[in-house]
Amino acid sequence: MNICSEVHTPNYKIIYKSVKGSDYQPEWLVCENCHEKRYFGNLEDIVSIEPIE
Ligand SMILES: [Zn+2]
Repeated sequence: MNICSEVHTPNYKIIYKSVKGSDYQPEWLVCENCHEKRYFGNLEDIVSIEPIE
């Protein structure tokens, strides 16, 4: 599992669209701050966002 930063506390699990010709959909654990700043892609690249407890 990928994480935005080891020193951040992730708030969301984000699944991104696969690149063309691949079935692999990257999953990232991302904190609120990094997500708001779109460090991890634009909304059109995102398949789903799940909040983490
Ligand atoms: Zn972060």
